[in-house]
Amino acid sequence: MPLKKKILIAVIDGCATAYLSPQSTPHLFKLIQDGSGQLQTALATVPTVTNVNHARILTGSWPEENGINGNTFYDRATATSKFIQSSTYLKKATLFKEYEKLGLTSALLTVKGKVMEVFGDDATWKINAETPTAKALAAINQTPPPHINDPASGAWIFNSALKMISRYSPDLVYCTTNDYVMHHFAPNSVAANEYLQAIDAEIAKIHALEPDRIIFVTADHGMNAKNHLINLQPTLDTAGYQATCVLPMADRYLANHPYQEGGIAYLFCQKSAEIAEIAKTICHISGVEAVLTNKEAADVYHLSTHTIGDLVVLGDKFTVFGNQPQAELFVKDIRTHGSVYEQAVPLFTTLRGHKISSTSMLFKLALQQVAVF
Ligand SMILES: [Zn+2]
Repeated sequence: MPLKKKILIAVIDGCATAYLSPQSTPHLFKLIQDGSGQLQTALATVPTVTNVNHARILTGSWPEENGINGNTFYDRATATSKFIQSSTYLKKATLFKEYEKLGLTSALLTVKGKVMEVFGDDATWKINAETPTAKALAAINQTPPPHINDPASGAWIFNSALKMISRYSPDLVYCTTNDYVMHHFAPNSVAANEYLQAIDAEIAKIHALEPDRIIFVTADHGMNAKNHLINLQPTLDTAGYQATCVLPMADRYLANHPYQEGGIAYLFCQKSAEIAEIAKTICHISGVEAVLTNKEAADVYHLSTHTIGDLVVLGDKFTVFGNQPQAELFVKDIRTHGSVYEQAVPLFTTLRGHKISSTSMLFKLALQQVAVF
C-alpha cells in the first residue's frame, strides 16, 4: 500500500498568473529553483467567478453537474435573484465529504464566508474569517481576524492554516482568501507584492513543519484591468424587450466590484419569440464579443441549461457588464473578472510528474494521494 500523503490546497482568490514572481513569492520560487516545486499555468472555468471555481476544484465536476453556474441564482418562476451562499445549490460531494468517507480529516479555512456556507458542510475543522467563532479560534489558539478587506487577512488565514496543521495535522487543508487586493492592485505593485509575500512566508512555515505535505497553490480565477462598463438592462428596456439581465458575478462583496461588474451576463427572455431579435441587438453593442444561445453556451462551457437564461453574453477583454445606472460608462482603474480572459491561473505544486491543465484536476489528484490500492 502506498504511503498516504497529506495535502494543502491554497486558492489565492483572483491571483492571475502575473502576480506570482520571485519578488512576490520568494519561497515558492526557491522550491522551483531547487527542483522540489514546479509552476504551471492551468485553466479555470467560465464564468470565472469564485463559486464556480471552488465548486470545480472541490468536486472535480463541471457546473452542469455540480449545479454552481455563478455567484448568483436567478429563479425564472418568481423573477428573483439570490446570491449562492448555501450548500442547497451544490449537487456533488466535495473533497471534504470524500475524505470523510475514507475516514480521513479535512479543514476548510476561508476569508470569504460564503465559501464556508456553500462548500464547508463536511469539513472536519472550519475557520471562517468573516464570521469567526470564539470556539474555532480557541481550538487553534488564534487571535481574531482582520477585516476581510484588510490585506492582512491573507496572511492571517494562512497563519491559521499553519496553526491548524501544527495542532491537528488534517489530511486535507483547503485555504482560500478574499480577492480585494487583486481587485485593487496590479501584479508587481508594492501592495500586491507585500500581500503575497506575507502569504508565501506562511506557506513556507507550513512546508518547513510538514515537508512531506503536498502543496498546491492556485487561484479560482484571474484578474484583468477593464475600462468599459455596459449595463444591458436599459438597452433591453428601451427597445421594449421583456428580458432580465442577470450578472453571474454578483455577490455580497461589493467592495470588490461595486457595480457587480463581470465579463459575462445571462439574459432571461420572457418571450421566446424575442430571443433571436434580442441576440441581434445585443451583439451589435461595442464591447460585446459574443452572444451565445443557451445551448451553445452550455455545450462550450459545460453549464446547466436550466440556470443560464436564454442568451449568454461575453465581453471583450476590457468590457464588463454591471448594474450602474448608465447603459455605458468608461472608467479607469477597474480590475475584475468573470470573462473568458480570466481563465489562466497559476498552478504551483510540489507533486512531481503531473501536467495539470485544469484546476479541476486537483480533486482527482488529492484523492489519488490517499487512495488505497
Ligand atoms: Zn472578485
